[in-house]
Amino acid sequence: MSARVFLVGAGPGDPELLTVRAARLLASADVVVHDALVSDAVLALAPPTAELIDVGKRPGRGVPQDLINVLLVQLAQAGRTVVRLKGGDPFVFGRGGEEAQTLAEAGIAVEVVPGISSAVGAPAAAGIPVTYRGMSASFTVVTGHRQHGETPVNWAALAQTGGTIVVLMGVAERGIIAAALVEGGLSADTPVAAVHRATTGEQSVVRCPLRELATTPIESPAVIVIGAVASLDVHSIAAAIEA
Ligand code: SAH
Repeated sequence: MSARVFLVGAGPGDPELLTVRAARLLASADVVVHDALVSDAVLALAPPTAELIDVGKRPGRGVPQDLINVLLVQLAQAGRTVVRLKGGDPFVFGRGGEEAQTLAEAGIAVEVVPGISSAVGAPAAAGIPVTYRGMSASFTVVTGHRQHGETPVNWAALAQTGGTIVVLMGVAERGIIAAALVEGGLSADTPVAAVHRATTGEQSVVRCPLRELATTPIESPAVIVIGAVASLDVHSIAAAIEA
């Protein structure tokens, strides 16, 4: 078979949230090259014989992107069935686009298998609908990460959308983000929910108004939801009706 890499989304954590195709490919992989965010429960679906390579980037350490690209090319050229497994969806942050381009340039076929992004999976797990008739007609997914001290996001413009703002990689910078949004005109009373390790056994949800985001303890990784919908929890409504 010609060289091929499967660029697969692992979903937010719970293996039940993998696509059928992702689970099938994982079960037939020779080698799985995965990120730090991919849960052990998902990796357990690879055959015991499969080689698992953790190239996860964590603060202060991790495998540089250039090396990951070279590794993927070499593994594919060696004729192995390579699953490149990324948390959530492979093309929502996480540099999946760059990896796909590098592989294509090396003449290696890439099949992309979309996954449930934490951008929607984490709010859903907390009972938060990202859109809601009459409350939020849009949701914008942005990175909270800064590159060389600069944010690539126009927070002032975002403050004006009237929709839901979903921030990934924003825990460390949450104080700066909150200040920029308030500066841009968003009310400091706007509800916020932070969903940590969504859909895993360690999931936790913290809620606060935007004015308290900077001082509210939140652990990474988390998805931060900002907007009126962040006050909702459809699960708690169901629990109240049952009680
Ligand atoms: N491709 C991934 C995002 C990679 S960026 C996706 O589509 O979900 C990494 C960021 O994703 C983290 O900083 C965090 O904000 C978010 N994230 C990923 N999985 C998460 C989870 N299970 N719970 C909370 N946040 C998560």
